[in-house]
Amino acid sequence: MEGEIFVITAPSGTGKTTLLKSLLAGDSRLQFSISYTTRPPRRGEVHGKDYFFVTPGEFDGLKARGALVEWVEQFGYAYGTSRDWVKETLARGVDLVFDLDPRGARAIKEDFPHATLIFILPPHRRALEERLQGRGDLSPEEMARRLRQGREELEEVHWYDFLVVNDHLKEALKELRAIVTAARCRASRRWPPLAPRFLGD
Ligand code: ADP
Ligand code: 5GP
Repeated sequence: MEGEIFVITAPSGTGKTTLLKSLLAGDSRLQFSISYTTRPPRRGEVHGKDYFFVTPGEFDGLKARGALVEWVEQFGYAYGTSRDWVKETLARGVDLVFDLDPRGARAIKEDFPHATLIFILPPHRRALEERLQGRGDLSPEEMARRLRQGREELEEVHWYDFLVVNDHLKEALKELRAIVTAARCRASRRWPPLAPRFLGD
């Protein structure tokens, strides 16, 4: 059966990367959807694992070939998702986790209506600033930009399927795992492959 799609959105600094690492490490059926980006790698980021890091020229080539299911320009860089890679991975029955902004989430939902959209929030706005600062890898300008964008993203929460508050990491992770389990149990997904066992003859 084709894999599930989980799209995660969170204002920068929420703790999304931390949560996703734990979620993926504890569930071998989940795989991270690797985007293309023109942003330079941060300390510790690996090409082909966190992102496919490409030049602006290479990114333009992908766009022109229609190879991206969606793409956005933000923080001065381009980010996009490969259509073929997603389709091939889903066809292998792998459940994909996307880390996307609200525009990307909407585009994926249009192409893949069964996708589960999850928004993650910190307990309050101050926590965002503290956590972004704690990360220690952003210039003051980039930090201000991300906080501004985070405020805009909050206006999009209402059309997501689920909302998780990352106050205590363990609790948030438990909720995320519960959502993944619930999505896999949907009758619309489970019944078609099971039906022949009951309706066979
Ligand atoms: P994002 O990917 O959303 O920008 P990160 O995962 O990089 O966020 O987390 C930002 C900072 O907040 C990191 O220093 C991380 O250790 C910290 N953090 C993540 N979750 C929590 C939490 N529940 N409580 C306190 N700090 C957290
Ligand atoms: P970062 O630079 O912190 O890795 O990511 C910045 C933002 O880009 C995050 O909000 C992340 O969700 C978003 N993002 C990463 N990859 C993609 C993508 O392929 N498409 C879209 N629409 N957003 C992406």
